Amino acid sequence: MSYIQIKEDSKIEVPDNATIGFIEGDGIGPDISRAAISVINSAIEVAYKGEKSIEWKKILGGDEAFEKTGKHLPQESIDELKKCVISLKGPLTTPVGEGFRSLNVTLRQYFDLYANVRPVKYFPGVPSPVKHPEHVDMVVFRENTEDLYAGIEWRYDSEEAKKLRWYLRENFQVKLTDDTGIGIKPISKFKSQRLVRKAIQYAIAHRRKSVTLVHKGNIMKFTEGAFKDWGYEVASSEFKDNTITESEFLKGTPSAWRVVIKDRITDNMFQQILTRTDEYDVIATTNLNGDYLSDAIAAQVGGLGIAPGANIGDVYAIFEAVHGTAPKYAGMDVANPTSLILSGGMLLRHIGWTLAADILDAAVTSAYADQKVTNDLARILNVKSLLCSEFGQEVIKRMKQPV
Ligand code: NAD
Repeated sequence: MSYIQIKEDSKIEVPDNATIGFIEGDGIGPDISRAAISVINSAIEVAYKGEKSIEWKKILGGDEAFEKTGKHLPQESIDELKKCVISLKGPLTTPVGEGFRSLNVTLRQYFDLYANVRPVKYFPGVPSPVKHPEHVDMVVFRENTEDLYAGIEWRYDSEEAKKLRWYLRENFQVKLTDDTGIGIKPISKFKSQRLVRKAIQYAIAHRRKSVTLVHKGNIMKFTEGAFKDWGYEVASSEFKDNTITESEFLKGTPSAWRVVIKDRITDNMFQQILTRTDEYDVIATTNLNGDYLSDAIAAQVGGLGIAPGANIGDVYAIFEAVHGTAPKYAGMDVANPTSLILSGGMLLRHIGWTLAADILDAAVTSAYADQKVTNDLARILNVKSLLCSEFGQEVIKRMKQPV
């Protein structure tokens, strides 16, 4: 096995026959993983003609892990994910029950995968609810570790909530009625800035037009508002030569290329993505805003079934389908594997195998342009549907070296 190496500066060194971890996932996971892995392997083969390849290391997670080990995420799996550094993951069931932490949340916290990254782009041929889905070309960077998702909350009748209400009344004259549950929204400078830094680095590396800081700082000044201020601070202190604020930009176009840094209040942003779609490009935002916004943007281009995603930290990264396990289609070979296939494309870009990623993206685009689609979209378009595995083969057939 040729594992990816972590260098002193936390950058990764990827061998030509890299070992990449994969968790198949539950429900439709095995079907879509099979399709995605064969598509990714083919893209690498077409791009590098045997000079590069991935050796996939299967890692147990979810229902299969539970059946074999009695744990949904055994320690050996965490150790393997760590060894692999970069992994691909199918969707995992979140077993319902008190005290069970989502496996996805566990992985994000363990590996400090603080940026949830979701590129959203339109594929011609996909049914969309808006008139100009082709104007959508955005990449959302959502903070993944704090905000109201930190899990600091108490039921209205818990001892903790009672104590907290008492403390607030006694010390800050904040009066909350006895039927009030309490959640805490932590937003820190360090975590906000590392997220915005990643978004700006991405924008610079990919020559994107702008980074928009999305926040609700008009109401929540010291959390959401602070996120915005800290975001501008990172841009001006660390990326002075490559960025410009929107207000400066509007005074006159700079002589050299710059990423424009702007901010929008969340509610306005939900309008803007519909009414001024092409003015938005890279988006950096807090956890809750990002959760809502990324699904809304994905809906503009035809929904979650085709939107890829990744959870990325400073070293480790897990690329995943953004949808769930769709249990009713489990084992039927009918699910749409596009989300995981495109997440594989993101993985290839992340490890620097850009040519393979370009070939993969172009082949998916070509299949959609000819309305070669799985049942979820075929029934809307009223065309013959392909099985999950057939869609994978259709994509592979269309792969070619760019001219
Ligand atoms: P879901 O995404 O599984 O399904 C929502 C709807 O979309 C269903 O109608 C489903 O059939 C359809 N669908 C989803 N993916 C599809 C695909 N690739 N092809 C065709 N149709 C598709 O969401 P849910 O029903 O809320 O959740 C089911 C399970 O998945 C839950 O246990 C949940 O916790 C888990 N989940 C996991 C992840 C993850 O691992 N990242 C994300 C979301 C939900």
